[in-house]
Amino acid sequence: MTLPFDSVITIEEAPVEVIRSVSPSKYLAAKRCPLSFIASKSNIWQFNPATAAAIVGTVIHRLIEWSGKSNDNEITSGQAEAKFDELLAAAEAKLAAHPVNRRLVPLSVTDSRFPEKRHSAIKASVRGPKQKRSDKPNYSSGKTLFMYEEGLMSKDGLVYGEIDKLVDGPHGLTIYDKKTCHVLDDEGYVKDEYRMQLLLYAGLVYEDMGKVADRLVLVDRDDRETDIRFEFQEVLDAMTVASRWLTALNKKIQLTPSVGQLLYLAQPSQDACRFCPARVACPAYWNARKELNEEWPDDVEFVVDSFLRLGNGGMLVKSRPLSLGRTIRVFPEFIEYQPALGLIEAGSRIRVTDVKTTGLQRTLTKRSVVYIIKS
Ligand code: SF4
Repeated sequence: MTLPFDSVITIEEAPVEVIRSVSPSKYLAAKRCPLSFIASKSNIWQFNPATAAAIVGTVIHRLIEWSGKSNDNEITSGQAEAKFDELLAAAEAKLAAHPVNRRLVPLSVTDSRFPEKRHSAIKASVRGPKQKRSDKPNYSSGKTLFMYEEGLMSKDGLVYGEIDKLVDGPHGLTIYDKKTCHVLDDEGYVKDEYRMQLLLYAGLVYEDMGKVADRLVLVDRDDRETDIRFEFQEVLDAMTVASRWLTALNKKIQLTPSVGQLLYLAQPSQDACRFCPARVACPAYWNARKELNEEWPDDVEFVVDSFLRLGNGGMLVKSRPLSLGRTIRVFPEFIEYQPALGLIEAGSRIRVTDVKTTGLQRTLTKRSVVYIIKS
């Protein structure tokens, strides 16, 4: 029998290699849990269920990247719209071919903010003529250079990133980064990871282009611009610390180049694990759930004792030991998107993400995915 892709997971020991570079957009998250960074760089344990918002975010990112890298002199609104629709169709075709993720099609329905996101993405990818990095702005004539998706590397090669937009002109050099979400935290401050990302971009501009940025600007999901206040010394410090951090991490990887031996680098926390693609498979996450009292994602793990097909087409799964009386109820409308349910048997170890808990009973939600764990 061909097992449905991604529904039956074997949690394997796997080799990992030293990491060539860290990108400014991933740096703080990588520091928050180095194991997550290593797993994603080595493409190990990447099972987290897809969400509509994440897929639309990827489409937007690819659109902006396409606009910046395109050899066309300018990108008009019509061209950007056509490209967005092409990227969306490709993303939906991929989702539709997947037994679990096909429930996310069409994304215009499953992502509640789809119309605003599409509008904002198209606006952000419309651009005028761009210039090469080697061009020089002509300050006396007021000529401004526009660069898009410029790939820049630190002198030691350990930090690499592509910058959405660079504007160099009579008013100085400005670095822009477009986000598909809010850029401020609950207290009204720029989110730490975004501030660090822009500081590192400024460091890359300095080390790779020999220029000092005057402004660092975040553009949020509603096209509002937020200036980041900074001192140039912070830029230099951020670059030094990022390079040292990756060098130290690579030394650990060289000493024990396998994911199982690097489990000690895991730093499970409710914020880091919630969005981590390794969450379903990560032993550190499942152990931490038992030991630390945090607001963990609503996931469950248990051994199947028995299961019952219900008259309405749904299903009831009972967990072992039966004395705990735990059950998972699956409403009929979710059955077709859970291929693992067709494969479970007494004794199967399963993990289910994003359930709703009422007393001892769990119910699958629209976002849930059932995985059978083989290890
Ligand atoms: S699930 Fe949590 S602990 Fe495990 S790698 Fe991801 S962030 Fe780290």
